[in-house]
Amino acid sequence: MKIPFQLVLATNNLNKVAELNHLLKGDFKILTLKDIGFEQQIEETGATLHENALIKSQLIFEKTGLPTLSDDSGLFVDALDGKPGVYSARYAGPQANDQDNIQLLLRSLATTTHRSASFKTVLSFNLDQKHYFFEGMAVGVILEQPRGSHGFGYDPIFMPTGADKSFAEMDKETKNKWSHRSKALFKFIQFIDNQ
Ligand code: IMP
Repeated sequence: MKIPFQLVLATNNLNKVAELNHLLKGDFKILTLKDIGFEQQIEETGATLHENALIKSQLIFEKTGLPTLSDDSGLFVDALDGKPGVYSARYAGPQANDQDNIQLLLRSLATTTHRSASFKTVLSFNLDQKHYFFEGMAVGVILEQPRGSHGFGYDPIFMPTGADKSFAEMDKETKNKWSHRSKALFKFIQFIDNQ
C-alpha cells in the first residue's frame, strides 16, 4: 500500500467501530462519525445489506468527500427462511435490545433441531467517484442457550462451524479469526493494497 490514508467509518455502533479499528489500525487514520461531527442516526431503509451499506457510505461521502467505509450485517437463520437477516437489529421490535432479540430467536427455534445460520457482512466503500462492495460470511449454528459475555448482538448464541466457543466466549482477536466482518475487511484491505 502506498500511503496510510484517512478513512471515515460510517457507523454509530461503537462495538463495530472497536472491531474495525482493531483490524484496520496502523494502515489507516480512522475517523468516526463523531470525529466528523455527524451525530444523526442514519435511517437504514434498504431491503438488503448491500442497499443499507450503500445508503450509509454514500451519505457520508457526499457530506465529507473523504473515503468512506460502511458496514451492514445480519444473522440469517436457515430454519426461519433467512430471518432476522437485514432486520437483525430490530427483530423483536423497534425498541428491542440484544437480550430481547436473542430471546425471541431462541423461542422461534424452540421446536426445531435445524439450527444452522450464517452471519453476513457487506462493506460499502466510496472513494472519489467510485464505489465498491466487499462481502464476508461466517457459517455456524444457533446455540440452545446464550454462552459468554464478550461482543454484542447475537454473539452469545452463535457458534461458528469448527469452533468450540460462541462468539461471546471468544476474545476480540479470536472472534476476528472467524467473523464475517473480518473476512469482508480482509478483502477490503487486499483491495487497498493493490491500488
Ligand atoms: P447492523 O445493521 O449492521 O448494525 O447490524 C444489525 C444487527 O445484526 C446488529 O444490531 C446485531 O444484532 C447483529 N450483528 C451484526 N454483526 C454482529 C456480530 O458480529 N455479532 C453479533 N451480532 C451481530
